[in-house]
Amino acid sequence: MVLGQTQNILWADLRAGRVAESYLLVGGSDGDRRAAALEFAQSLNCQGGTLGFREGPCGDCSSCHRIKEENHPDVFRLDFESQGNLLALSPEKKAKQKEYQIDAVRLLVERAYLSPLEAREKIFIIDGAERLSEESANALLKVLEESPSKAHWLLLTCNPDQVIPTVRSRCRKIPLDFPLSGARDEKDPEIEKWVQESLERKGKNAIALASRILADRKPGQQKKDLAQFLKVLSGKMEERLRDDPSIENVGKLETILQSQIDLERNVSPQLLCETVLFSL
Ligand SMILES: [Zn+2]
Repeated sequence: MVLGQTQNILWADLRAGRVAESYLLVGGSDGDRRAAALEFAQSLNCQGGTLGFREGPCGDCSSCHRIKEENHPDVFRLDFESQGNLLALSPEKKAKQKEYQIDAVRLLVERAYLSPLEAREKIFIIDGAERLSEESANALLKVLEESPSKAHWLLLTCNPDQVIPTVRSRCRKIPLDFPLSGARDEKDPEIEKWVQESLERKGKNAIALASRILADRKPGQQKKDLAQFLKVLSGKMEERLRDDPSIENVGKLETILQSQIDLERNVSPQLLCETVLFSL
């Protein structure tokens, strides 16, 4: 199961009756993001008896199979290959594609306004959302904000900073879980103690606790220890989310997951630690 924490967020969205029109899936490998997007589409359309959120899609029904094989008429993934087919480009032009074209995006938007052929929900996946040109992004804005009912948009990117801001701001961002380089596997008892303290401090001074967590550590070690701290903390928050899938808890988990991504990007450990502790 690729979705993991992402699935918890979706489950909470479903319970709260607010599956968003558009999501931005960030982080992980190209394959992770693609698999997570397809699993999202399966979850919304699984025919295995229940909506596939809590336990994940069944993986066995005809809908799950066809979505996995990218052979479902109501699930469309845009990449350069499918754009080339959609616009009937010659092999030479296909090979030279550098961005998504407005004509391709317009065709997807038109499709979004048609009823699903067989699925409950139509899913449009844009693989590499940073490839949207300004012009093609503009063609998407309205539908991202107010998609026709039964249509959802999943934008995937490894680099959210390169996605046009007006697109980014319209999507609900979901950071994917991904392995942290340098994170230690063994559990540090000290780190467990910090996690416990963070979850129980109930509004006590976040800056003081962040300083204590990072005190007396060389910068390299700070990053490793904070990575481990965030990993354990996100695990605890996931457990909490399973018992109480509230929007508040989803927000807390999202902040922790985003901090894991930011830490990999060398954002200051002190700043990240404070942000996470404040959010709790
Ligand atoms: Zn299924």
